[in-house]
Amino acid sequence: MISKKMADSFKNSSLIRKMFEEGERLKAIHGDANVYDFSLGNPDQEPPREVLDALKEAVNGDAQGLHRYMNNAGYPQVRATVAAKLSRQSGVAVPPANVVMTVGAAGAMNCVFKTLLDPGDEVVVLAPYFVDYLNYVDNYGGRPVVVPCDRETFQPDVPGIAAALTPRTKAIILNSPNNPTGAVYPESVLRALDAVLLEAGARFGTTIHVVSDEPYSEIVFDGAVVPASFSIFRNGIVCSSWSKSLALPGERIGFVAVHPQDADADLLLKGIVYSTRVLGFINAPALFQTVVARAIDARVDMESYIDRMDLLHRVLVESGFTCRKPQGALYLFAKSPEPDDLAFAEKAKAHRILVVPGVGFGSPGFFRLTFCVDRRTIESSRAAWEALGAEYGLAAVRSGKR
Ligand code: PLP
Repeated sequence: MISKKMADSFKNSSLIRKMFEEGERLKAIHGDANVYDFSLGNPDQEPPREVLDALKEAVNGDAQGLHRYMNNAGYPQVRATVAAKLSRQSGVAVPPANVVMTVGAAGAMNCVFKTLLDPGDEVVVLAPYFVDYLNYVDNYGGRPVVVPCDRETFQPDVPGIAAALTPRTKAIILNSPNNPTGAVYPESVLRALDAVLLEAGARFGTTIHVVSDEPYSEIVFDGAVVPASFSIFRNGIVCSSWSKSLALPGERIGFVAVHPQDADADLLLKGIVYSTRVLGFINAPALFQTVVARAIDARVDMESYIDRMDLLHRVLVESGFTCRKPQGALYLFAKSPEPDDLAFAEKAKAHRILVVPGVGFGSPGFFRLTFCVDRRTIESSRAAWEALGAEYGLAAVRSGKR
């Protein structure tokens, strides 16, 4: 018999996965072209040329020992390359020793929370949130404390966060550009947050770490600027990956970096390296450490993402839906035309449109769509969106632009 906790987890398992499975079922009945599946944010681009070249070079060269265990924290040269990029971006000199290579951003966060949390410790999570944050905190007996963002701008509510801090608060998770809202947090908001965290830490005699989950940091639109979190948060921990910026989610390559002035930097780094071992994912994938270091400045084709983001946004708005334009990441987060977003998602399904209800991100009254789908799917979904909008009495507005 499996554990009761695991059995309960299955019951509450992610709405995103459920929608994806539902999409597969509908596609088998109606054919791929007739189902508009906007549920799963799986980057649909091939990795950039530089990545494929670096991979070929690594595989075809005569280097020996490419596939062996290495230092638990990763190859020194790769850590130095990542540290140099972080230093350039933040203006903070990040030593290579402060970078640990991990199995994706998800692996990075698990190592961080394994290191930080005693049972009952609290982690502030901003809603809407990436649903696995709750699981990553719960994995180590931590308690997520959810603070909603502003429902119009999706920006953090700094006074709300201040009110949620307690002597048990070990960390806050930030994710900008944000999944699911596409919001980018400006420097002014982050500085105000930093002041609040430092003040509360001083009052409680604790350190509140800022765990910045940044897999979308390079996926930004319309000149949006993502401030380097190390330039603001001294007690900062960056968790990131190349899953989105280089379209490598299946290769599971990421890193953790700890700010050199973090109050607990040395112990944190020791704990994170130890965690990679005891959690069973020692050594980030060797081949892809080499590849990302060689292609560190490459990026996916942003034009293609921007084009599809614009098109999907236009289709939605012209069908009468209310949706803020995202500044980054791979999603649109639109208002549900009825308060019950689960009921809305069911009605959308009847039009063969698949979306993820906002309740799955801790924000009822919204729904999420990814624009990582074929352009033709977005174009051909227009009539279905208009029909769905009409069901709610939303007025379609045609701009004539396609
Ligand atoms: N954090 C956020 C906000 C994500 O959206 C994802 C994946 O979609 C992850 C973390 C996990 O990233 P990785 O695949 O690099 O582990």
